[in-house]
Amino acid sequence: MTLDQPAVDRPALARLVAEAEVGGEMPDDDVPLYAPRRNIYPQSVHGRFRNIKWTVLVVTLAIYYLLPFVRWNRGPNAPSQAVLIDFPNRRFYFFFIEIWPQEVYYLTGLLILAAILLFLMNAMAGRVWCGYLCPQTVWTDLFFAIERAVEGDRREHMLRDARKWTADTYLRKGIKHFLWLMVAWWTGGAWVLYFADAPTLVKELATGQAPFIAYAWIGILTFTTYTLAGHMREQVCLYMCPWPRIQAALTDEYALNVTYRYDRGEPRCSAKKAEQLRAQKQPAGDCVDCLQCVHVCPTGVDIRGGANLGCIQCGLCIDACDAIMTKLGRATRLIAYDTDLNIKQRIEGKPAFYKLLRMRTVLYAGIIAIVGGVMLYTLATRDTEGISVIHDRNPMYVRLSDGALRNGYTIRIVNKRLKYRDFIVGVDGVPSSLIDFVGLPPRADGRQLVTVGPDQTKEVRIVVTDYSTTPPPPSTSILFKLIDIDSGETAEVRDHFFGPGG
Ligand code: SF4
Ligand code: SF4
Repeated sequence: MTLDQPAVDRPALARLVAEAEVGGEMPDDDVPLYAPRRNIYPQSVHGRFRNIKWTVLVVTLAIYYLLPFVRWNRGPNAPSQAVLIDFPNRRFYFFFIEIWPQEVYYLTGLLILAAILLFLMNAMAGRVWCGYLCPQTVWTDLFFAIERAVEGDRREHMLRDARKWTADTYLRKGIKHFLWLMVAWWTGGAWVLYFADAPTLVKELATGQAPFIAYAWIGILTFTTYTLAGHMREQVCLYMCPWPRIQAALTDEYALNVTYRYDRGEPRCSAKKAEQLRAQKQPAGDCVDCLQCVHVCPTGVDIRGGANLGCIQCGLCIDACDAIMTKLGRATRLIAYDTDLNIKQRIEGKPAFYKLLRMRTVLYAGIIAIVGGVMLYTLATRDTEGISVIHDRNPMYVRLSDGALRNGYTIRIVNKRLKYRDFIVGVDGVPSSLIDFVGLPPRADGRQLVTVGPDQTKEVRIVVTDYSTTPPPPSTSILFKLIDIDSGETAEVRDHFFGPGG
């Protein structure tokens, strides 16, 4: 496949089959190795897929810009922002979920879920992510809308650019770039609000009291949004993004893709010529070669040339062609979400079939269900307290002047609840031992009461001394235990008591 194929009148399927037979791309002498960038002026279009794209654009941008201002009451000891990445306190808040640094595996699980969901979308409906949900698509679509509002639709814009530039041209371009920069600036501004209390940070930003890093990130994201969505547009999809290449390897013959039904459209000719040909019982396709499908395409693709890496599967060419077919009184969906297999079926006079339920879609859905289920279960049943131990490394043990052996440990007690909690901490497994909690009053039973603040951890030093007269083994397994006095919830962790030879 090439990135930018010219319209060809031979069936795409024949080309793909031929390419498969020669084990690579068919030689195409008339296509240069380097294609200079063409300015793309996508024409506005109305229809079902355009409406879906507007809806997705409004919903996703509204979520992105407004989510930092949504509040979530977690009580007096926690932030009230629903979604917050709290780097100073090393927490990630997502509504009722709070992720600690040691629970980063939930994020790994989320990434796995996102990847498999992308595979599933691809197996069902090709690059539906690229066409509707990808941030590059959403922001570029918004920038196109601004461009059309200021500089006019395709025809008007092209004419104005081709003519000698006047003060009006400069003014319009200035307004467009100003509006683009405003959107880009808001985009960067919204991003930093996910990392601090949004209303407070807005006030600080407005009064120049925000930390430098916030201004720096706003600057970086303003620049990247303005450049990627305003200037690079389809170049990102064609050359920078790896997903088109990956999805080309993942797709199969049953995945629905935006497809020109050449079995119905070819041979293309004007409506008048088609009438004449049909009157003479000659074949005439439904495509009138009006190029509307190309003019509305945000990546400048002619879908009639067959499968194309540049096609982001946005469906706008379907809307454009449907409008032409409706005007001509012909059946719509000359371009549609379909498969090349179905085209072959129709050519052979067989009924089209759609196979959404197949091995790979079931497998992807199964993986999503399992990973999602495991994550939900572990989230719902995860402990709200924890204990970890680090044994002193140098030295591993100390022999005291009276012959006793001593090991030192640092324990960390975790309290994930949003209230103070009292824990009894104890050590089991070393007979005849004396357990000292450094800095805390000694207790005869070797146990200690430790209070940990809400949503905090507390570090405690413990030394364990073995006064037994018999030589201890090189290593003895011991158990550190934690009991919440109020709820009785427990946590424990094993470590070792080392002696000579250990
Ligand atoms: S060819 Fe059609 S579906 Fe593909 S990107 Fe262009 S308009 Fe969208
Ligand atoms: S919009 Fe439809 S009729 Fe017009 S060129 Fe494209 S496929 Fe042919």
